[in-house]
Formats: sequence, structure tokens, C-alpha cells
Amino acid sequence: MTEKEVLQAYQKYVVPSYRRTNLCLVKGKGAWVTDIHGKRYLDFFPGWAVSGIGHCHPRVVKAVAEQAKKSIHFSNNFFHPPQARLAEELVRSSFPGKCFFANSGAEANEAAIKLARLAGHPDGRYQIISFTGSFHGRTLATLTMTGQRKIQKGFSPLPSGFRKAKFNDLESVKKVLGPKTAAIVIEPIQGEGGVNPARPEFLKDLRRLCDRHKILLIFDEIQTGMGRTGKLFAFQHCRVTPDAMTLAKTLGGGVPVGAIIIAEKYAGILAPGTHATTFGGGPLVCAAALAVLETIKKENLLENAVRMGAYLQERLREISPLVKEVRGIGLMIGCELKIPAAKITEEAQKNGLLVNCTQHNVLRVMPPLTLTRDEADLGLSILKKCLN
Ligand SMILES: *Cc1c(COP(=O)(O)O)cnc(C)c1O
Repeated sequence: MTEKEVLQAYQKYVVPSYRRTNLCLVKGKGAWVTDIHGKRYLDFFPGWAVSGIGHCHPRVVKAVAEQAKKSIHFSNNFFHPPQARLAEELVRSSFPGKCFFANSGAEANEAAIKLARLAGHPDGRYQIISFTGSFHGRTLATLTMTGQRKIQKGFSPLPSGFRKAKFNDLESVKKVLGPKTAAIVIEPIQGEGGVNPARPEFLKDLRRLCDRHKILLIFDEIQTGMGRTGKLFAFQHCRVTPDAMTLAKTLGGGVPVGAIIIAEKYAGILAPGTHATTFGGGPLVCAAALAVLETIKKENLLENAVRMGAYLQERLREISPLVKEVRGIGLMIGCELKIPAAKITEEAQKNGLLVNCTQHNVLRVMPPLTLTRDEADLGLSILKKCLN
């Protein structure tokens, strides 16, 4: 197909639910993607962090190819080694508990919502508190939990039982917390919301509040998880352990897999018959996720995220007087501009760099954890050129 044919087919046969950039991609490798004309782009936002360890990482490619020859899918009515190994690895590297596997971030959060409701049910607790500026997915329940009006527009009546508090504001949490509260759900660093880190003290206060009221503290680490911040999970920066944590994006190295890890105390609540998904946790996706975890360890990607994250943040601060603030942890970076960021992402693309714009004036810089110094410098030089 030519680029024109691809675009025409999309126009005719694909629903227009996405705002797409005029770029037709055919290949990806590491921090690089190639378009249909053979032009290469440095990717500082690989698949919204799905390709968080780079496109087509050789270890993931190998694991998927080998697993596909043995089995692609078995249903959850049977046992198989890849799901056993992945669950063990995830629990060992986070907190004592058990995993449920889904196919996306939203689905992992749906499992979190169902867990909170089941846990609260005996006491008549069902309300879930989430935060302004948050993003939790596009299913009906998760978009209701999301703290952004624009994402809810036109979908009323929304499911009931969701309350909002102000991010990083304990008093506002106390105001909406009541005898019907079942859980608090928070992103340790808001991603879509503009890369806003929660203050460690705020997370500690939430932990205390949840303990006192015997409600669940749930972290949505779909974007922050799997090494993005320089620790495998963002909660490990602040020594606040959640009762459940959702994962997706980088977890599968490109294949669709989501997960919720539930602390031992609550892990038995999702008893037989309470929750299920046909595709979840199949051998292929579990093999891919295992390869991602192995890669992060063997290639010291956490150290690299710390090192390259510090370097990028420092350099971004001095790149142009148009930069208002640089925030984030590790390689989860928000670069807030004094001007709309969309113009800059457009200009960057013309110059061979893919980067995201969120909340109007924030450049979201989330390169793969494998980023090299040369790649960082190249990306920085393109951004500098676009900003000046
Ligand atoms: C992307 C994202 C989701 C939704 O994940 P999907 O796989 O798109 O359903 C939920 N929460 C956070 C924090 C995300 O970044």
C-alpha cells in the first residue's frame, strides 16, 4: 500500500475516534521508528510508553517468537507456566499479594473498581475517591473515575459511586471521605494530567487515612510502572505500599497486557465467579512481559532511567527561555512551556523527533528506558531548534 492508500482506507473504514498525526509508520527498533517513505524518527514517546523498553526489543521479539511456537493462548480454566512465572515475578518485585491479568490499563482499573466494591460490600461501602486531573481509562467506569470533564462529556448518565478530591490536597480528600467510601485511587505521578508528581507526604497521609478508615489505597501505575521513574514501581520512591496496583503499557513490551497486583489481605476477594476475562494472562503475553522484566534487570534499565532522566531534566531546564518548568521523576518528564506545546511537537516531527503534548502546554518526554546519551543529545538539539 502507498501512504495515500493507507490514509484513504482509514478515512473510509476506521472510525474517526482518534486525532491522528500525518505519519504512516512501518517499522520500529529501539528508540527509532521508520515511516513508509523510509524516513527515520527518534521516538521520545514510544506508543504512550507501551514500547517503554524501546520498539521491538530483541529479548521481547525472541520470547514472543519462541512462545508462539509452543502456545499462543490457553484459557484461564487451565494452568500454564508463563502466567505462573509472571505472577511470581511481579509479586516478588512489588509487595506480597496476588495478580489478576487483564488486557489493557482500563481493564486493570475495572478490576480495581470491582475489588474495591466487593471489599466494601459487607459494610455498605462502594464509593471510590479519585483525583482532579487524573486519567484512568475510557471504559464507562474508568472514565467516570477519571478527573477530566472532557473525557466524560456526552456519556451521561455516568455510573454512580465516584467522588473527586483535589490532587495533593488532603483536606479535600477528608471532605469527600465518608462511611460509604471503599477506596482511594491515585496515580503516583499523573501522566495525562500533565506529569504532576504526588507529594510523598500526601501519599503517606493517604496511606494513614486509608488505614484508619479501613479502606483500600489503590495506585494506578499503568504509566509510572515498569521502571519509568527509575524504580520498578513509583510507589517504591515514597515507601508507601498500596493495597492494590494496576499495570499495563510497558508491562507487555508492545503486546496488550494489563495486571492488577492485590495485597495478600485482599487477594482472596476476587473469588471464583467474581471476575474474568477470556484473553487475560495468556502464554504469549505473559512470555512477553517476562522478557520485559528480565530486560529491565539484565540491562540495568532502572539505573539508565535515573541517569538519563536527570540528564534530560537538567538540559531541558536550560534549553530555552520558553520553558516554564520541568518536572517528573526519572524518564517520566513533563516540560511545561510558556506557549502551546502542540506547535512544538509538530515542528519536532518535521525535524525527526516524536514527542507528546498534554494539557495544552506540556511537552511529555518519555523516551524508552534504553535511551543512550547520543539519542538524548539528538532529541535535545531538535527540541532546542524548534523552541528557538
Ligand atoms: C493509559 C492509562 C490508562 C488506560 O490504559 P488503556 O490501556 O489505554 O486502557 C489508565 N491509567 C493510566 C494512568 C494510564 O496512563
